[in-house]
Amino acid sequence: MNITMADLHWSVGFLEGEGCFVCPAGRARVVATQVCPDSLYRLRKLFGGIVLEKGKIRAWQLSGINAAGLMMTLWSLMPTKRKWQIEKALAIWRSHLPHARYRITCPQGHPYDIIERTKNGKDVRRCITCRRLYGHTKGQRGI
Ligand SMILES: [Zn+2]
Repeated sequence: MNITMADLHWSVGFLEGEGCFVCPAGRARVVATQVCPDSLYRLRKLFGGIVLEKGKIRAWQLSGINAAGLMMTLWSLMPTKRKWQIEKALAIWRSHLPHARYRITCPQGHPYDIIERTKNGKDVRRCITCRRLYGHTKGQRGI
């Protein structure tokens, strides 16, 4: 879906008041809580994420790389107080290893150079250097 400048400015206005930009355990998260869910479904339509219900309160939540991307997108449009909150969350996010699927190197730091299809049809990234050194790729994590 295409996000217009009007959508972005609406999102900034809404999240400036109702949003929360955090990074618990290194996982970026944008949360907004509201009794009336219309705005939360609009956020979900625009950016993805989920709408949770707890009693009369509903919350929209976007996590991980998409939440970090949204923070970076909204940062320049936010007032100073929210900028600080976003900067703090992104600093924590940047200090953690990315999710395995976004890593470009094996756990030993070599670049992934081949993609293999496993018996069950899953594509797995491999590092030739580790294969040469250890003769196998046991313990490597890939996609
Ligand atoms: Zn390696």
